[in-house]
Amino acid sequence: MTRQLTPPWPAECRAAFSLSFDDGALSQLKYAAPMLTEADLPSTFYLNPRGDYYLDKLAPWREVAKAGHEIGNHTMAHVCSRGFKDDLDAPCLENMTIADVEKDIIESKRRLQQIAPQQVDMSFAYPCYMEHVGCGLTRQSYVPAVARHHVAGRGKGEFPFPNQAATMDLHYAWSWPAERMPGSQMVGLVEACVAKRSWGILTFHGIFEGHLSVSEGDLRELVNYLKANHSRIWTAPVAKVARRIVDWRKENGI
Ligand SMILES: [Zn+2]
Repeated sequence: MTRQLTPPWPAECRAAFSLSFDDGALSQLKYAAPMLTEADLPSTFYLNPRGDYYLDKLAPWREVAKAGHEIGNHTMAHVCSRGFKDDLDAPCLENMTIADVEKDIIESKRRLQQIAPQQVDMSFAYPCYMEHVGCGLTRQSYVPAVARHHVAGRGKGEFPFPNQAATMDLHYAWSWPAERMPGSQMVGLVEACVAKRSWGILTFHGIFEGHLSVSEGDLRELVNYLKANHSRIWTAPVAKVARRIVDWRKENGI
């Protein structure tokens, strides 16, 4: 026997969609945040509140939060695998413990709450999409540490599979990297979510900036599509969609 429930999207919406942006790139402040605010498409910006002057450096993001966007946790240190660097002394996940990571994400969240004090829930994005510490025999997932402090964690998934509200791991939600993706392909992914009544998440970095860039025109194409289809596609921040799924799961005993 199969057990399928109607997903918890509001009103007549047939899918949920989230745009997420990593690393606090300046082009996100310049292009993405104003475009999304103007289109009334609240989104998620994952920041790294590192250093002694994080409050000054992140000050422009207060306005982004006030406009209704989510400020998400992307850790202070942004540590990834040492495989990206040929340097045994560089900070890396292989040399960290779960306790090391948890300490970082608790402090990072505390700092980001200062930027967005009005925000109820906060989601987390795994730096480099990696959710482990250690190596080989000592390798362990730190997803449980994220789950202790966040309503959701955003990782990386496979094309074209979106998140299913009933069965997904909310603390390793799948997202699709958007870099170099044409707007028409992004729209195709949105419609794949509609067909499956599911939740799609795109991960952006720079807009016309950096090595993981998308063009302003491609982002504009997606934004215009979501705006025009807002009655059938619910665009919301990661934490907001996750909270709705949590409540719906409780109601349905999932
Ligand atoms: Zn990052």
